[in-house]
Amino acid sequence: MTQRCKFAAGNWKMFGTSADLSHVDAIAQAARDLAGIVTVLCLPATLLSRAADSGLALGGQDCHTASQGAHTGDTAATMLADAGASYVIVGHSERRSDHGEKDADIAAKAQAAWAAGLTAIICIGETRKDYEAGRTLDVLRTQISGSVPQGATPQNTVIAYEPVWAIGTGLTPTSEEIQTTHAEVRDMLASHTGDGADLSVLYGGSVKAANAAEIFALPDVDGGLVGGASLKAADFIPIMKALAAS
Ligand code: PEP
Repeated sequence: MTQRCKFAAGNWKMFGTSADLSHVDAIAQAARDLAGIVTVLCLPATLLSRAADSGLALGGQDCHTASQGAHTGDTAATMLADAGASYVIVGHSERRSDHGEKDADIAAKAQAAWAAGLTAIICIGETRKDYEAGRTLDVLRTQISGSVPQGATPQNTVIAYEPVWAIGTGLTPTSEEIQTTHAEVRDMLASHTGDGADLSVLYGGSVKAANAAEIFALPDVDGGLVGGASLKAADFIPIMKALAAS
């Protein structure tokens, strides 16, 4: 029996101050009224404890591999958990490109997340160059084998397939491409790790209200990781509703 869940996950990136907490509350209210989906907001670390009373599932956007130590400016998974998070994104393409994170770093971060009791949302995705060269599946296979640790289960891990060229650009693969890639990712996960076939696999990259229903209707898509369109309740709630209706 499958353990896949439908996730509406928002990634606020480096946006949001206390003035934006009203959006968290509105999203939390909508989440209470929608059955069958898990809504998660991955907030800036500075907002996590401020949003903890919302009742919404919260996530961080990155964590260190260590549980504490002399690492100025970094945040441990244990600290995210202490601040109210139950999820953390690891391996987002912006971390891979801005901070040179490699698959082995991401696997270690996922294990640190697990040790702190967090569910790791592990991101994978090809660049435009790889997409155009027809290397998408090779890239994803390498990323899965390097960044998804053995021991990944539906309880401790969610996968987000995010083509780098679709993030924040308004571009998306075709629905056929998304479905084909997700089905391949699921096969790769199944051969990589014991419970891999049951992991939830989210699509990310320019999801918005206008395309959410079509993307979420695809059989191997278990929801979305949403950046820009998760910042405002008025943009994100229709996406949550599209997922609940899928
Ligand atoms: C993201 O940041 O993970 C993302 C998918 O961004 P956007 O929805 O803005 O493309």
